[in-house]
Parts: sequence; C-alpha cells; structure tokens
Amino acid sequence: MNQSRADLIKLRRRIVTMCYRAKMGHISSALSCVDVLYVLYKNFLNKNHNDFILSKGHAAPGLYVVLNHFKHLKDAELDKFGTLGSALTSHPTCLVPGIQFASGALGLGLSVGVGMSLANKIKGIKNRKTFILIGDGELNEGSVWESLIFAGNNSMKNLIVVLDKNNIQASDYSKNIIKTDPLIKSIKKLGWNTVFTDGHDTEKILTTINSVFNSQKPTLIITNTIKGKGVSFMENDPAWHHRNPTEEEFNLAIKELTL
Ligand SMILES: [Mg+2]
Repeated sequence: MNQSRADLIKLRRRIVTMCYRAKMGHISSALSCVDVLYVLYKNFLNKNHNDFILSKGHAAPGLYVVLNHFKHLKDAELDKFGTLGSALTSHPTCLVPGIQFASGALGLGLSVGVGMSLANKIKGIKNRKTFILIGDGELNEGSVWESLIFAGNNSMKNLIVVLDKNNIQASDYSKNIIKTDPLIKSIKKLGWNTVFTDGHDTEKILTTINSVFNSQKPTLIITNTIKGKGVSFMENDPAWHHRNPTEEEFNLAIKELTL
C-alpha cells in the first residue's frame, strides 16, 4: 500500500473517531473532501506561501485532521475537538493556526478568495495562488456567481477553485434541488478553465492541479467524490449529512477503515 493511501485511511479513522467522541461534526462531508485537503496541504499549502479557504466549512473535521497530520495542530488539540474551550469547533475559525477565514455560512468563501487573490495582484505578488474548496450546493448561491463573473472577466489566473462534487447538498441529492452539470458549463463560458478529476485518487488530484498551475485563466477543478467515502453505510446517503453514529455503527465504521 502506498503512503498516501495509508495516510488517508488513518485520517478517515480520526475523522470518524473525533466526531463520534464529540457527538458532533459533519462526518460524511469531511470524508468526501479529505483526499483533496491532504493533497493541497502536502504539496501546495504546507510550506509554500499560498492561501486556502475551506468554503464548505462544515467539512472542518477533515481540515483539522490534515492540519494535525502535517504538524500544524498538536494531537492534544485535536483530541479536544468539540469540547468546551477548544478552538476546534464544528466549523473552522481563525483561532486555529493556519485557518485564514471562518467559514460555515455557505457561499462566502469564493468571494473572500477572489478578494485575497485580487489583493495579491494589486500588490504585484505574482506567484501566490489562492485555493478555495467549495461544495456543489454552494453553486446555488448568488454571491458565488458574482465572484465567478468577476474572476473570469479579470482573468484571475492565480485562483484555483476545487469543487467537491459529491452530488449531495445537505439532506438531498443535487439533482432534486438544482442540477450541477449545467452550472459547470456556464462557469466555463464565464472565462474559466474547467477540468475534471477523481477526488479520491491523490495522484490524479496532484496531476490535475499541476496541469493547470500555469494557466492564464482562473480554474475550477471538479473533483468527482462520494459523500461518506470509506464507510460503506454512509456512502452517498444524504441521511448521513449530519448524523452521529451509534456505538455499533462506530465500531463497524472503524472495522471498515483498516489498513
Ligand atoms: Mg455536496
């Protein structure tokens, strides 16, 4: 088994365990995007001077375990997730080292990221990328479209947005709310690169990001993902958007997440 695969199983176990213990946290949303977060921190955010916003803030447990894996958060801090006085709440805040924007109110991260990228452009900082991770449900938000139009019109090439396309938004499938695929086609027409990859294959995620790194346009990387990935009974089931496992379900999940 390669190192990334082994790391990801360990990270998924920690997500499930910390949320089970705290009796809070959006487990399936975190399991959906933890592979992308791992690749971003390993290759682009760990030591490099790039910016990152987790716009789908409810996936915070995924971000916390990745920050811990890359030594930005101590084990003792991670173990306090969801307890009184801990900075590690169900949605990220700037009290956590390395977190630049408190998110959770959906649809805001892209606007803020565009602003950060624009500030870099005005200051003449050329090589600093702004990465933003959004959920498919956020594409329904008006503020997201204002940002998409602005960034496309201004060829904001240092902007790389990753869409965690798990086809579920909150408690229902996207196809029953607003279909995502036509929206992606519209984004391309607004002056964006749009590329697709497998959001659970770390090598493909890395190759895709590298392939757009020197693009002259802003880029939307659509990662095809499965909400709840790694725990069979949580996968692709909207009921698990914000459910905490019973003891029996927890034990079953941990049994599935073995090396
Ligand atoms: Mg989603």
